[in-house]
Amino acid sequence: MDFAKLKQLLQDKKEPSFRFKQISKSYYSGRFDSFENMTDISKDLRKFLSANLNYLSLKPIKTSVGEQTEKVLLETHDGQKIESVLMNYDEWITVCVSSQVGCPLACKFCATGKMGFKRNLTTDEIVDQIIFWNQKLFPKYVGRIVLMGMGEPFLNWDNVISAINIINSKEGLDIGVRKISISTAGVVDRIDDFANLNTQINLAVSLHSADQKKRESIMPIARQYSLEDLKKSCDLYAKKTKRQIFFEYALMSGVNDSLEDLSKIIKFIQSNHLFYLNIIPLNKVDGGMTPSNTNTFNQFIYGLEKARINFSIRKSFGQSLDAACGQLVAKN
Ligand code: SF4
Repeated sequence: MDFAKLKQLLQDKKEPSFRFKQISKSYYSGRFDSFENMTDISKDLRKFLSANLNYLSLKPIKTSVGEQTEKVLLETHDGQKIESVLMNYDEWITVCVSSQVGCPLACKFCATGKMGFKRNLTTDEIVDQIIFWNQKLFPKYVGRIVLMGMGEPFLNWDNVISAINIINSKEGLDIGVRKISISTAGVVDRIDDFANLNTQINLAVSLHSADQKKRESIMPIARQYSLEDLKKSCDLYAKKTKRQIFFEYALMSGVNDSLEDLSKIIKFIQSNHLFYLNIIPLNKVDGGMTPSNTNTFNQFIYGLEKARINFSIRKSFGQSLDAACGQLVAKN
């Protein structure tokens, strides 16, 4: 919703000043799905707002429900399609939010990357993905956000940061910074800017290889920002914020799962005590890489354990819905 416009409309209508707060609180909670249904304001005002202001900036087209996971295809005002995923397997209900329509970074293992890039999402379109789920869940609500959906959040910096401000603000969604995570493919300049924000938001970096040439072959962004520069900037981030950085590593058969790859990633993670490794199962996408076989996967894990690396294996949800990491694509 365009809140500047809402404020103006309420002023035009000479509504009392508390009305703005009342409406925004209802909006963020997901209690209502339209102005027409806002039963706690007068009929006249409901009619006036419906006629002059869009409620949710996104229109749900299709939802798919899986075990503990739900995916929605949403349409923007200009007919673009994005996806958002709800994960309900924890103490907190988590939503994976998209930041762009498509993605310009074209990582080889990612369905979104294969779509190409259409445009950045606006602040409202980022926040409204969460409002959509809050409407569906009410009186329950989303408690944790991961900016790991379609797109590279750091390439839509201004809108993503202002969305995070709304997500975190008491007057907005009131989700604590420690319950927000942002993932980058390694946009080094923005990691520096992110460190300067001095926030407690969790930072994840899609690494997938600790070898420059190999990383370049699966993540074209590595040609622009070398592994060395990425590491320098992550070291600086860790030094400045004293916060852990989560490095994502999806094991791909014959790509990054050899003993040489293992020793390179061990060296990389061991170089900083605030570096933490997340092994994520590769989620298959059409024409993409193949996940490592069980034997190789287990050997890799054994090697990490033996080296006493800080790591965990992330369970993948939503594969059956094509809703897991790297699988989001507006197919419909
Ligand atoms: S993995 Fe992330 S950065 Fe890479 S193409 Fe997919 S959405 Fe873009």
